[in-house]
Amino acid sequence: MHAIDMHCDTLLLGIIQQMKEGKPVDLMKMTGMVDFDRLIRGNAMAQFFAVFLLPEGSEKYLGFKLDDMDFIDMGVEIFNRSIDSHSDIIAKAVNAKDIRRNWLNGKLSAVLTMEDGRAANNDLANIKKFYEQGFRVMGLTWNFENCLAYPNAWDDETMMKGLKPFGKEAVQYMEELGIIVDTSHLNYGGFDDICDILKKPFVATHSDARALSNHKRNLDDSRLKKMAAKGGITGLNFGAEFLNKETQSAESDDHCKDSTAFLIAEHARHIADVAGVDTVAIGTDFDGIEGNLEIGSPDRMYILEAELKKHGFTEAEIDKIAYGNVLRVMDEVCK
Ligand SMILES: [Zn+2]
Repeated sequence: MHAIDMHCDTLLLGIIQQMKEGKPVDLMKMTGMVDFDRLIRGNAMAQFFAVFLLPEGSEKYLGFKLDDMDFIDMGVEIFNRSIDSHSDIIAKAVNAKDIRRNWLNGKLSAVLTMEDGRAANNDLANIKKFYEQGFRVMGLTWNFENCLAYPNAWDDETMMKGLKPFGKEAVQYMEELGIIVDTSHLNYGGFDDICDILKKPFVATHSDARALSNHKRNLDDSRLKKMAAKGGITGLNFGAEFLNKETQSAESDDHCKDSTAFLIAEHARHIADVAGVDTVAIGTDFDGIEGNLEIGSPDRMYILEAELKKHGFTEAEIDKIAYGNVLRVMDEVCK
């Protein structure tokens, strides 16, 4: 399966390792779930690498502190240097044309993304800077309020708050520049505003179907339909907490710890039935998820392909889920 995975947290592991060991990290071989080596073995077409900004207070258990811009710059440095030193097998991509060209040249592609837009810090010039660094997808929030918007929440009041004024300006500017807006950790109020503001498709890089698993980060059927109407896509998240029926609530985060290819395919089937197969993509969340994962690294993606077939998807539909839908959205948004 020639997958384009829209989300992993491998760069975060890289930044932490580099800070702790004081020597350059190479994404070719990592001890987590994703590295170039296993992407190649899994026949991947492209991997999106997120720079995830850690929540306030993380320095207490990490043992170091970097301000957001230094943190982002270090993520970009690891990304660029790792790719440059393995240019025989991998190349950067900022649009679908790059990914197609790299693929024809026998190379895997890597795309830079950002998780949590707080570093925009009320200034569009920062978003321009991120664009120039190569970022082509930006999640507006992680799980906390920031200058752009409010995060997913159990209480309806927070869940339905709209984008902040700067958030509205920012998403419009991102569309103008050619950065894809990512709603994965955003609340529903912000999601609805984005549907009203944007003319082009947007994505949820790593969110599943709420009808099958009542996680506050999953998308309900009405939002899946709204997303489809915009030509948007959601990436199937492989984390157990997003897949299982018995899942989190405001009171407890007890949930089944098993993530299976069967469950991932069930979510794919549901999203396709409700919103169309053009809305389904992949966003594993590798290196950011826990549990007993049947598919715990990109070299095991063939298991999903077999399970999608069992769930009635044709080969052409599986190609759309694996890579076609992402390329279409990038064609529409990224220059
Ligand atoms: Zn995330």
